[in-house]
Amino acid sequence: MATTPLQSGVQAVGRLAMVRPAGVVLTRAAYNYGRQTVGGLRMASTVTTEGNALSGYSNTVEEETSQELVLIVCSDKKERVVILGSGWAGYAFARTLDPNKFERIIISPRSYFVFTPLLAGTSVGTLEFRAVLESVRRLGLVNFHQGWADDIDFSRKTIHVEANTSDDLASRTRLLMKRSQDPAEKGPMFDVQYDKLVVAVGAYSQTFGIEGVKEHANFLRDIGDARKIRMKVLQSFEKATLPITTNEEKRKLLHFAIVGGGPTGIEFAAELHDLVHEDLAKTYPDLIKLVNITVYDVAPKVLPMFDQKLAKYAMDTFGREGIAVKTEHHLTRIRPDEDCEGCLKLKIQEYGEEEVGAGIVVWSTGLMQNPLVKKMESKVIQRLSPSGDAFSAEEMQIQKDPKTKSIVTDSHLRVTMVPAGSQENANEMVKGSLLPDVYGIGDCTVIKGQGLPATAQVASQQATHLAKRLNKGDVDQTPFKFKNWGTMTYLGNWTAIHQSSADELTGWAAWVLWRTAYLTKSMSLRNKIMVPVYWAMSWIFGRDISRF
Ligand SMILES: Cc1cc2nc3c(=O)[nH]c(=O)nc-3n(C[C@H](O)[C@H](O)[C@H](O)COP(=O)(O)OP(=O)(O)OC[C@H]3O[C@@H](n4cnc5c(N)ncnc54)[C@H](O)[C@@H]3O)c2cc1C
Repeated sequence: MATTPLQSGVQAVGRLAMVRPAGVVLTRAAYNYGRQTVGGLRMASTVTTEGNALSGYSNTVEEETSQELVLIVCSDKKERVVILGSGWAGYAFARTLDPNKFERIIISPRSYFVFTPLLAGTSVGTLEFRAVLESVRRLGLVNFHQGWADDIDFSRKTIHVEANTSDDLASRTRLLMKRSQDPAEKGPMFDVQYDKLVVAVGAYSQTFGIEGVKEHANFLRDIGDARKIRMKVLQSFEKATLPITTNEEKRKLLHFAIVGGGPTGIEFAAELHDLVHEDLAKTYPDLIKLVNITVYDVAPKVLPMFDQKLAKYAMDTFGREGIAVKTEHHLTRIRPDEDCEGCLKLKIQEYGEEEVGAGIVVWSTGLMQNPLVKKMESKVIQRLSPSGDAFSAEEMQIQKDPKTKSIVTDSHLRVTMVPAGSQENANEMVKGSLLPDVYGIGDCTVIKGQGLPATAQVASQQATHLAKRLNKGDVDQTPFKFKNWGTMTYLGNWTAIHQSSADELTGWAAWVLWRTAYLTKSMSLRNKIMVPVYWAMSWIFGRDISRF
């Protein structure tokens, strides 16, 4: 037996090119050429290519069989799967994808995953911030790059990344939304190549362009937001208790306005109510009668995803707790109050010229497109399509959902394309085609024809489905099917509502289900222990009201 290792990848390209069947184009994917003759050698190999050059040979063995040499090329190079985002979709996907089969790389501006259903609890001190975070680095990835995917070159399978050197910028929505998209103001840039790409960049907060929202409202989407809210709420109490603060200023400072009557806005109102009445009432007994919590919504009813009976239960509970819910109210401006330091003035269409004073406005009105998704959708992609023997290019674009502007995927979570310029009547056009090796999951996507809500449930189920299918190698065969685990919302005072296709629950029983359900989902053992410990601590000793 003789052994002659391949001299170099370049040499290998030359040899392979000699045997490449007509019409086969080398890409970065793995090709099994089976047994083929290469200038007197026969190959039995799985060959992995990087860029346009072959790479990743670990062993080469030549065997002499009867008259000819058989070259066995074994590669230890795995397919590289790059994941954009470390939210519910990106994190769950990376966690489930088999590291023995794939090289996993995450690109995300933040180095952690946030368990969003418990974020409102951290913003009032029911839980500590670290209890709802999971470090991406603990996933044992081949690499994590802290930065934003700024652009993607699909033909070269390359992601242009803008490094993020500020943790504060990644964790605070208000700063993030003000981040400049001007190329001249961008941070350091670098490129990352992929074999397969999973786009899981989520969405941004919707402000509807209302004056003063980006500048003065507080969002509740990430850990930095929760920290800022906690600080501001406690600051308002400290300012209100100063001997120089007038009663009118106290009322303004202690009016907590929440815009958006979806589950996030309602849960924050409920958590804030618990903080005020269970903890701050003992520290600031004279101020409690001046506290007001108001939820504003433009719709005629809040919690639209719940049936009428449960939504009414929620409103009755809020009524008893003294939380005001103002439906069909349109906020048109937020500005600082020049007569009260730290206060804001809210202009509400229904109140005419009169403005409402508030110490804090928490904004939770829905989602808008991530800037990367906008950039991706505006790109013209040359699709190689067979026409006779030659390859001719067709101009395509990523398909976008006309309502949400999200990326459209098929039921296998593969990103779909339509001929360039045909977005408006995409459904009537020739059947859309697929963007090779690009998948989309979570809030930045919609599955064609499925109309699923933008929730953690959907994002995490999509992520685990896609990762499992890739692990098994049958992603094209098994479509994604959503299983509805039910919807829950905390209402304060140890009560909640729960709705599923099987049952409906209200009150304390729903609250128990709410807490246990969250404990079992997507948390490491460390956090599964930390969360109940902090819940117990705040129940026994009260919530932490220190500011830092
Ligand atoms: C306070 C709150 C409570 C919620 N409660 C519930 C609940 O109880 N139940 C439920 O089902 N859903 C809930 N949701 C909704 C749920 O959190 C979202 O549906 C879910 O986070 C969507 O997951 P995602 O991975 O698509 O997006 P996200 O979780 O938003 O993650 C997006 C990720 O992409 C990163 N990213 C952004 N831009 C780029 C870029 N250019 N390049 C690379 N990375 C990028 C972000 O930093 C982030 O890591 C809640 C949401 C909030 C805010």
